[in-house]
Amino acid sequence: GLLLVGDVVTDVVARHAKPLAPGTDTAARIRVLPGGAAANAACWAARSGCADVRLLGRVGAGEAAWHEAALRRAGVRPLLVRDPEAPTGTVVALVDGRAGGERTFLTDSGAVLRLAPADWSARLLDGVGHLHLSGYLFFAATSRDTAALAMADARERGVPVSVDPASTGFAGELGVDRFLAAVAGANLLFPNADEAALLTGLSAPEAAAAALSRRHRLVAVTLGAAGALVAEAGEVVARVAARRVRPLDTTGAGDAFAGGFLAARLAGATVAEAAEAGCHAGAEAVTVAGGRPG
Ligand code: ADP
Repeated sequence: GLLLVGDVVTDVVARHAKPLAPGTDTAARIRVLPGGAAANAACWAARSGCADVRLLGRVGAGEAAWHEAALRRAGVRPLLVRDPEAPTGTVVALVDGRAGGERTFLTDSGAVLRLAPADWSARLLDGVGHLHLSGYLFFAATSRDTAALAMADARERGVPVSVDPASTGFAGELGVDRFLAAVAGANLLFPNADEAALLTGLSAPEAAAAALSRRHRLVAVTLGAAGALVAEAGEVVARVAARRVRPLDTTGAGDAFAGGFLAARLAGATVAEAAEAGCHAGAEAVTVAGGRPG
């Protein structure tokens, strides 16, 4: 099985018809969707054929049942800790509904960063063949300690670990160097091109992937509409083109790539085949609204 640990959030997508200004826009269209990088990746792993996907996260007590139901519908076994005080992490996306409209994101991590070491147990790894951690966990001390504990237990059991290094995870107080030290035990990283550049100071994705893969066995860098490349032990070992699709909403493309890649690896695929599966899921993700399988 595959265990993912990280963010489960509520996405509030508000499409406004007028420029934002004090007052009321009664023509706005607002949708509330289940999201979060770790939760989305879990759903895409299930969608990509992984039969045993589990997700550990922390949410506000009031919304837990709604998130659990959405995860179950997607084929994911939810392991959600109910926070008695903090609300579920929430992202408000303000989308200008007029042509060429901008997007503004307001984020409040809420219970996500309160996933505590006491919420973790090595027994969560029973029957697990791979552990995937969301980079958001590294943003705050409490969830970072939990991630460290999970990585240490996985290592002890010989369970491979991957991390999706969300830029928020290292752009904060931690910084790049301490982030890289914190994930030194990971066997696989999933940065997008921007994150790979920020982590290495190298703007060419090939060079960044190669450099990161010296420390981490495998590094899969996603390149949006240009596909993905994978480096291993200092060398680029696979390049995969993206599928040709008409993008509708790119939210969750990177999460989908990770989910597809991991599902394929757990099923015994080669690195190149896994990158293909990642691009397949990524292409599907950009053609559906929201960050989860349609
Ligand atoms: P992130 O969402 O983390 O920034 P990317 O934008 O690199 O990640 O997208 C992840 C994967 O999704 C890419 O490797 C690619 O396979 C797929 N993808 C993203 N954008 C497109 C697109 N416009 N057309 C086809 N596939 C895409």
